[in-house]
Amino acid sequence: MKYPQPPAVVSLDEILPDEPLLMMGAGPVPIPPKVAYANSLVINHLGDTMNRVVEQVKSMSRYVFQTESGHVMGVAGPASAAMEMAIANLVEPGARVLSICNGLFSSRLAEMAGRVGGEVTRFDVPDKQSANPADIERLLKEGRYAVITVVQGETSNTVWNRDLVEICRLGKQYGCLNIVDAVCTLSTMEMEMDEWGVDAIITGGQKGLSSIPGVSLIAFSEDAWRHIEKRNAPMAHWCLDARLADNFWNKHAYHYTAPVSGILALHEALRLIGEETLPSRFRRHAVCSSALQGGIEAMGLDLLIQAEARLPSVVGITVPDGVSADKVRHIMSQVHKVEISGAFGLNILRIGQMGEQSRTHNLFRTIHALGTAMRVAGGKVDLPAGMAEMERVLASGG
Ligand SMILES: *Cc1c(COP(=O)(O)O)cnc(C)c1O
Repeated sequence: MKYPQPPAVVSLDEILPDEPLLMMGAGPVPIPPKVAYANSLVINHLGDTMNRVVEQVKSMSRYVFQTESGHVMGVAGPASAAMEMAIANLVEPGARVLSICNGLFSSRLAEMAGRVGGEVTRFDVPDKQSANPADIERLLKEGRYAVITVVQGETSNTVWNRDLVEICRLGKQYGCLNIVDAVCTLSTMEMEMDEWGVDAIITGGQKGLSSIPGVSLIAFSEDAWRHIEKRNAPMAHWCLDARLADNFWNKHAYHYTAPVSGILALHEALRLIGEETLPSRFRRHAVCSSALQGGIEAMGLDLLIQAEARLPSVVGITVPDGVSADKVRHIMSQVHKVEISGAFGLNILRIGQMGEQSRTHNLFRTIHALGTAMRVAGGKVDLPAGMAEMERVLASGG
């Protein structure tokens, strides 16, 4: 034997903390027990049982996306795979793409569009601001674009494109297909795919939906689907070919072995959203996020983004000079068993308000951990004032 010894490893018990960390970062987020249970099952990926699951996942997804589209599908892969599926199917080589870039994830869409041969024009939105529809209209007047890419919420720097409805309206007016990334926002705030004129919408499992990472959702509008059906350019991606995926999602035939456990988890996550209903879920997210934001400010810390462009589903906090964001996170994780996010390169902290993160008990535990850790790391904060403000906002219903 060439490799006589198995590698020396330890069991997961030795790697994982004794007590699971409370996941309050930018995703993945905590999952409800019913979702976790569903994720532990394996069933046949074809046949009557799976067909019933798939039909329900599609109808529940239509509700969450607010669409009547017949082209809703799951994707085995991260939200980025669903982003790539939207891009790869809708952007043909040479097609002109207007990519509205607020930060890392919206820039990823631009990068993907370039890789499939699209002729990409990046519009870099000024730092810490929402994309302004007047700027977009000016660009649309100047050049004929086939596709627009845009995020509803830019998780990386916690900016919200609050005028998404108007941007999508302009996109349709100028004959574009609108590709919208709703990964960190879906089911936390309004999104009406049909009403707003969204042609491809994407979400992951591990954010607003409170399911597992690695199984994502995508929906194409009828306009988008017509484009896909008459597309001439060959599709370089076999797994992400929407016409092949349609075989599984709409014709109950084989494409690739569907991630059955993850789809069962998604089924439960979507069913819980239906039970809660979207309006109540939006309200819960809005109240919890305002309470968190109010608490953080009352504690004496600054939020990264001004109110008018601030994303509610991921809250960015400016870390005071002389305090290390990494040190704060380390203390929160080691001592308080609460995990939050740093940022790609910036000295800020990000706290998620997606799905199960928006529960009052999780808020109090998180703000307590943040305040205490901040003090230990050398920051000056008034934790009781933060707690009191959080309590006040929650009691007043936002
Ligand atoms: C998290 C996130 C993504 C990427 O999701 P992955 O599952 O890591 O691929 C894309 N866009 C936004 C807005 C996100 O928040």
